[in-house]
Parts: sequence; C-alpha cells; structure tokens
Amino acid sequence: MEFSKIKPFLKNRLTSVFYHIVSERPSILVKNLYRPRSYEKFKEDIEFFLKNFNPVSLVDIENNIENGCPLPEYPLYLSFDDGHCENYQNVVDFLLKRSFPATFFVASSTINNKKILLPHLKSIIIEKMKTIKISQLKKLARELNMPIRENSKGDLLKEIKSVRNYSTDDTLKKIANIIEIDEDEILKKNAPYFSEYDLLCLKNRGFTIGSHSHNHFKFSTISDECQAEEIGLSISTVRKISGEKKVAFSFPNSGAFLNDEKLEKWAIEYSISCFFDTSKYRPNTKIRINRISFDKSMGSNAEPEKPADNIIRDTYIEYETRSDK
Ligand SMILES: [Zn+2]
Repeated sequence: MEFSKIKPFLKNRLTSVFYHIVSERPSILVKNLYRPRSYEKFKEDIEFFLKNFNPVSLVDIENNIENGCPLPEYPLYLSFDDGHCENYQNVVDFLLKRSFPATFFVASSTINNKKILLPHLKSIIIEKMKTIKISQLKKLARELNMPIRENSKGDLLKEIKSVRNYSTDDTLKKIANIIEIDEDEILKKNAPYFSEYDLLCLKNRGFTIGSHSHNHFKFSTISDECQAEEIGLSISTVRKISGEKKVAFSFPNSGAFLNDEKLEKWAIEYSISCFFDTSKYRPNTKIRINRISFDKSMGSNAEPEKPADNIIRDTYIEYETRSDK
C-alpha cells in the first residue's frame, strides 16, 4: 500500500515522531542497543515531513490542549529522547535552517554529564566484552556465580542483555566494576549528554526542553512512589532550566500500562502540560500523545533504512491489523 492511501487518515490527527541520536557512527552509549538514523536519511525525513505535513511545536500542542487552539491540517511533531549532546552538532543547525520546531526530552540525572543511564552502561559493557581478556572473563563468571564454560562469554552477554529492571537489578553496576569501566572518565572525556548551558542554548534558539524522568527507569518496574519521585524531581529540574510554568513529559520506554486518570492526576500535581508515549501506535488521547520511533532495532541491522513514508505507513497498517487495539 502506498503512503498516499494512508495520508487522508492523518489530516486531523497529530503525527508524532521521535529519534534518539542522529549519527553515522553511533556512540558507544547506544551502538549495542539500536541503530540510530543516519544524518543523510534524517535530512530526507525532514524534507518529506515539510512536503507532506505541517510541523507543529510543543507550544502549539499545549495551546491546543489547554485553549482549544486548532492545529493545522496534517500536523507533525518532532522530538528527541535521552539528551544526547551529539544531536547538537548533527541536528540542530539543520532544523534551524529548515525552521523545523522540536523538543528535546532529557533525563535530569544526566544533565551536566553527572551520570550514565543504565541502558547506556549496558551498551558500553557489551562493547568492552568484545575485547575482554580470559582472566577477566573468568573473574566475572566467578563473581556472578556462573559456571566457567567454553561459552562463558556468550552466557555472560545473554545475562547482560537480559537486564531490564534497571531500578533494583545491580548486575550492570557490578559487571562494570569488575571489568573496570570508568564511568567518570567516560563522562569527562566524551561528555555525551547535554549540559545545562546546552539546554539554555537550545531554548534560546527556539527549541523546547521536556522531561524524560530522572533516572530513566522503566515505569513498569518501579513502585507508585518511585514513579512520582522520578516525575517530580525531573519536572522541577527541567522547569528551573527552561523557566516554563508547565513541562511536557516523555516516558522512558513506555507508560502504556498507566491509565489516563493517573496521568491527569500527575498533570495537575506537577504542572505537566502533556505526556508522550513510545509504545506501539495508539490513537492520541487528551493527555497522552503516542510517538513513532525512527530508530532501527538491532535485529534489523542488515536491512537498509526505511524511508519516512514507509515507517509511518507501516505503523498505521500494524495498528489497523493489530488484534488487541
Ligand atoms: Zn529514553
């Protein structure tokens, strides 16, 4: 099916797309998690959006929600998650050149390169495992109470990749310690995340800053109290920098299991303008906007990058044919 067949469906619906990093050479923080969009493809995406949609800013969306100000036909909203500083070089100048609005959602614990997010630490560990010495491998297996076998490396990689509960599982921290990954040095040397100054520059150049929680824990793995803490702390940190009364929030991974009543309650309590989700496509609600990911999963590594029209088309086809929608 051609994109033109899907397009009428998007006339009065907000299409929301997001990226993490746009890069030809993915940084060590993400290269073992997903394949970022290449800069060339990203530029093509933006031209495609400009031809087929009307870009809207976060302020347009907030005015629509709060005051009923209508959005243009074929509205499209662009955002970036995880606060990767690399986007400052690759993305920002091009967006400015094309007058394209965007929001950068940051996990507040990373601002000023204070901390490496655990999913990013996972990617760094997987990378270091590629050149790990046998002696270190044996030590690692011993410390983790795993049998030392011929395929210990494979077993360990499986164990590392299976860590999903970042809030209470300290396996990654333990492994990083044993194989001597110096997080402080990486943070100092690579400065992979936005500083407060970067965020102020982005704001001064017309972009918006949103919250992506504090520690980037999966909300489905943490308690109600911890969810509220993650939201409260990150919203107040971003508000201090952006100076905005209300702040938008994007869920790390997904908040699909949370109902809209809970989101409405948080919106009032923490002055949140709206929530952005990243799970499978669902129609937007008054408080929650679903986004389409433009990153490529590791599994589809060998496949060429899909053009933007195919990504959007396939997302809607997947939704239409899904049995649990
Ligand atoms: Zn994220």
